[in-house]
Amino acid sequence: MEHIVIIGNGIAGVSAARHIRKNSDKKITIVSTETEYFFSRTALMYVYMGHMKFEHTQPYENWFWKKNRIDLVKGFVTKVNHQNKKLILKEGSELSYDKLIIATGSKPNKFGWPGQDLKGVQGLYHRQDLEQLEANAPNNKVCKRAVIVGGGLIGIELAEMLVTRNIPVTFLVREASFWNGVLPKGESELINEHILEHHIDLRLETNLVEIIADENGWAKAVTTDKGETIECTVVGLTAGVSPNIDFLKESGIELGRGVKVNRFLETNIPDIYAIGDCAEQHEAIGNRRPIEAVWYTGRMMGETLAQTICGNRRAYNPGHWFNSAKFLDVEYQTYGWVFSERGMKEYEQHFHWRHSKEKVCITVSFDKDSKKFLGINTFGIRMRHAIFDRWLTEERSVDYVMEFLKDANFDPEFYKVYEGEILTAYNAEFGTSIAPKKKSWKRIFSTT
Ligand SMILES: Cc1cc2nc3c(=O)[nH]c(=O)nc-3n(C[C@H](O)[C@H](O)[C@H](O)COP(=O)(O)OP(=O)(O)OC[C@H]3O[C@@H](n4cnc5c(N)ncnc54)[C@H](O)[C@@H]3O)c2cc1C
Repeated sequence: MEHIVIIGNGIAGVSAARHIRKNSDKKITIVSTETEYFFSRTALMYVYMGHMKFEHTQPYENWFWKKNRIDLVKGFVTKVNHQNKKLILKEGSELSYDKLIIATGSKPNKFGWPGQDLKGVQGLYHRQDLEQLEANAPNNKVCKRAVIVGGGLIGIELAEMLVTRNIPVTFLVREASFWNGVLPKGESELINEHILEHHIDLRLETNLVEIIADENGWAKAVTTDKGETIECTVVGLTAGVSPNIDFLKESGIELGRGVKVNRFLETNIPDIYAIGDCAEQHEAIGNRRPIEAVWYTGRMMGETLAQTICGNRRAYNPGHWFNSAKFLDVEYQTYGWVFSERGMKEYEQHFHWRHSKEKVCITVSFDKDSKKFLGINTFGIRMRHAIFDRWLTEERSVDYVMEFLKDANFDPEFYKVYEGEILTAYNAEFGTSIAPKKKSWKRIFSTT
């Protein structure tokens, strides 16, 4: 019986395993080093914040794997030998495969900062990081101040986590405004304000120079390129992640920043595939990045590859881009493409609306010549993914989107509160006189 071996029990590897099992009787083994069982990485923060126990982050009961004949091996793969189709594990044992799926995810970036390996200095990615944080920062008596380095989604999550335990946080962000490589100006500024309102000491345009040790090898302060010294006992390194592929360096598998794959998620070596955070497309798909370190694309890649492995060769086709996150208590959603000032395309134009008091805003992106709707970012408003996905496929105009915005409204309260204001602002800015309309969103999917 063909043996499929998967390295990594994250969302990508586990999705592949589940879908291979749905479609075949193949022997499946998952080897993974971090935990025995799959868990939701995105929920790690809620464990520290006391909303759930770690066990609650595991979507499947422990019996699930045996029942579905998915063998689990806890171990670290140190070497892939593709000539004889064998994996070498750290303990020295070997595992043979017929087809191999690499789904080893990411690791936090370290940029060679002096002191980056001191005690009290850590990332936030693996379960072990959570345990370390619990030990290093149980409360504000043990941790008098934490310094977070790197202003992305994980950095702000870590800040929120620490703030819930009343630990003072200084947040060093290289950019002039939070996440402004991704967010348009108005949104980025809204988040700057929101961070400061949460009593997080946000330092923009500030870089870490060095982490200073005390006599026991613990971090006791950081210095910045602004000439400051900030005392702290915990340093969170959250300056992005990169593919966790160091163990493949001598393998003969083509590597770039990640494991290079084609549209079918195949590597240069027959019968070896890569999916999830560690996979790097030879050529980016549309405006997407060649490496997509997000949860749902890992799941999609796993599901797609399972089809190929089961004899129905299928290309990875992720559809329209979307994503969601949370900046403290402000929910963020993005559908289609809304680029920041830095990345803005020459054909792109934005309509930005912000509520006068609340932390609520939207940015709609459209083609300045044809007025084709290109994407939307929402902050503090929840919108319906399926509606925007449809409008992007149908290549609707921005006027149409504004006219029927109410259909995309997830929360009926939103219409009463914001929709009129958004449309008034849009009409004023673009000289239109669009009146709001509404189809029943339930019926939208049956109309042509
Ligand atoms: C704190 C945090 C919050 C996040 N929030 C969001 C969010 O809100 N939305 C979103 O879309 N994404 C979010 N992400 C990103 C998302 O979690 C990842 O994109 C996703 O988990 C990647 O899944 P994966 O299966 O590719 O890899 P992983 O989940 O990293 O799993 C890979 C596994 O392989 C193991 N492994 C690695 N190398 C080896 C080896 N040599 N031998 C054996 N095992 C190995 C690793 O230990 C790991 O357990 C978040 C990430 C973090 C850290």
